[in-house]
Amino acid sequence: MVDIETRLEPDSAVYKTLLESTRAIPWKIDWATMQFAYIGPQIEALLGWAPSSWVTVQDWVDRMHPDERDRVVAFCVSQSQAGVDHEADYRALTSDGGYVWIRDVVHVVRNEDGAVDSLIGFMFDISERKKTEQQLVLLQKELEELSFKDGLTGIANRRRFDALIEIEWENARRNRQPLSLVMLDIDYFKQYNDRYGHLEGDNCLKRVAQVLGLAAARARDVVARFGGEEFVLVLPETDEAAAAKMAERCRDLVAGERIPHEGSPAGLSLTVSLGVMTTIPAHGQELQAFIEAVDRQMYQAKQQGRNRIATA
Ligand code: GH3
Ligand code: MG
Ligand code: MG
Repeated sequence: MVDIETRLEPDSAVYKTLLESTRAIPWKIDWATMQFAYIGPQIEALLGWAPSSWVTVQDWVDRMHPDERDRVVAFCVSQSQAGVDHEADYRALTSDGGYVWIRDVVHVVRNEDGAVDSLIGFMFDISERKKTEQQLVLLQKELEELSFKDGLTGIANRRRFDALIEIEWENARRNRQPLSLVMLDIDYFKQYNDRYGHLEGDNCLKRVAQVLGLAAARARDVVARFGGEEFVLVLPETDEAAAAKMAERCRDLVAGERIPHEGSPAGLSLTVSLGVMTTIPAHGQELQAFIEAVDRQMYQAKQQGRNRIATA
């Protein structure tokens, strides 16, 4: 009678059929010679390289994308030397010069005295998964950008301003550098909407946002839409005199657009009122109080007749 162990043990032909009919590609490397003892014929369908072209470990290294090569090879060698099973993702070169994302899952086989005998593993084609991952990363980046962008004007939104001003405030305090804010509000914008319509009002906001972008010339200057028809310029490392000049430039740039506003008591074209303030934040000084002070300054400009700049 045949015992159960013998009955269940498939012969090598069965193993071979099983191995070579899976989508994963089996391989074996002899540790002593660093040569491929075996690689599944499926490799040719995936990468275009015939099984006979996989001779040494170097063939595997050479067919790895340079961006991953050093890191992946160092990782796999050290894991193998330590006798630890491992897996690695990398792009493998195809015979026509393209790349396919592979996940290599490696089992370290030891001989009886515990020394590494060989490596056996499976290569999986993970290009679809990688594509999805990359799309998700892109989407995530896009969403992050969108969440900091004002939908109408395309410039930084209030959320971005709130995050940024905290950082610049801290910076200015730590480095004892002046931080300036310019707050800007369009004059008689309600009348503008009433006269020209809300859509024309939207266009007007876009134009104002665009020209203010020209004023913020330094890399760390940021223009944001503070809300409605109010904009704010964050000017790090900018003293009173420079901030006043920036405010003047903003007023000139908007005036230079000559956006018709026939209902405006301040003139025939669109004007703005601005508040400017500079501070070197002291320990314990409140950011919120500073923003409110700039806002009050802007309100002063309104009260003094609009189309002007109020400095502290
Ligand atoms: P002041 O000179 O005192 O600033 O007068 P104002 O009319 O500009 O001020 P007020 O704050 O009373 O009105 C602001 C107007 O801005 C009212 C609102 O309808 C308009 N507004 C706010 N956001 C938008 C927008 O996204 N698009 C358009 N078209 N109008 C907007
Ligand atoms: Mg307003
Ligand atoms: Mg206004």
